[in-house]
Amino acid sequence: LGDDARAARIPRYVRINTSCWTTEEAIPTFVARGFELADPFASESSFARDEHIPDLLAFNPRTQFVDDLLYKEGKIILQDKASCFPAFVLSPDDKSMVIDATAAPGNKTSHLSALMGNKGKLFAFERDRKRFSTLKTMLSKAHCRNVEAVNVDFLTTSPTDERFSQVTHILLDPSCSGSGIVNRLDHLLETEDENDAEQDRLNKLATFQLLMIRHAMKFPSIQRIVYSTCSVHAIENEHVVRKALATDECSKGGFQLADPAMVLPGWKRRGLADEMGNAAEAQSLVRCSPDEDATNGFFVCLFVRVEPEDENKL
Ligand code: SAM
Repeated sequence: LGDDARAARIPRYVRINTSCWTTEEAIPTFVARGFELADPFASESSFARDEHIPDLLAFNPRTQFVDDLLYKEGKIILQDKASCFPAFVLSPDDKSMVIDATAAPGNKTSHLSALMGNKGKLFAFERDRKRFSTLKTMLSKAHCRNVEAVNVDFLTTSPTDERFSQVTHILLDPSCSGSGIVNRLDHLLETEDENDAEQDRLNKLATFQLLMIRHAMKFPSIQRIVYSTCSVHAIENEHVVRKALATDECSKGGFQLADPAMVLPGWKRRGLADEMGNAAEAQSLVRCSPDEDATNGFFVCLFVRVEPEDENKL
């Protein structure tokens, strides 16, 4: 299938920004415009509630919202379904202290902020200056009032800094190959030489991704860390998680993979058991396939701190 054909099989996902609107208000608004609740592929004017992510609607792929006032006002966020998984799995509440370590352009930050009811405290880190400026614009457009955006490299932030001593949740969605994004899959057509270069790039990304997870595990009050990528490569996904579980931060600091029941239990596609080397652990991981799940390719993992009574399991 060509890229356009693959993209045409992904609905236009619209996340209702509950910081300033509700799905109960949104549905009649769309119905009044002539949309009808039905399978999003039934017609160009049909839309449906997503079955896995609350406040996510799926429209026909041909529906355009970029010029829509609702989008300009920040009432709707145009965000792929799979990209809504990380904040939903992290599930902070209105009392949580959260770091979004790699935040720009900010779709997951505004999702976290909405899940927190715009309360608690959310630090949004972004190291790139230009992307940081986009992040600030997006956060203000999305009515985020509990977010402090900081133009900083997460790896240079100190886990012993007093400002972060109470942080309970970290979302890590670091730079990756982007191989799950359907319209970027053309790298699969590269020649052998280019594949060598690609392998080298993936190795470097994986080293960086592991470093980011290990750093997150050093923050003293962390209870939950979500690691996600929009890559379909095991080297950036299962292999990084496997290596993280083998580090001192994990075994001595006491992190383990969350029980599968905590990680989108209704979602069938789980981690690759062969790549993980452990079928039970692979069940804790979530994958999305760009060809089979009507989403972009994606990977999500939730690390949780081992409670003292669980320590003998380590
Ligand atoms: N979570 C974002 C969203 O949903 O809108 C997308 C994040 S994107 C995959 C990764 C971002 O992390 C990029 O903007 C990149 O500049 C930033 N980044 C990479 N390494 C970083 C680091 N060490 N500290 C802070 N930001 C970093």
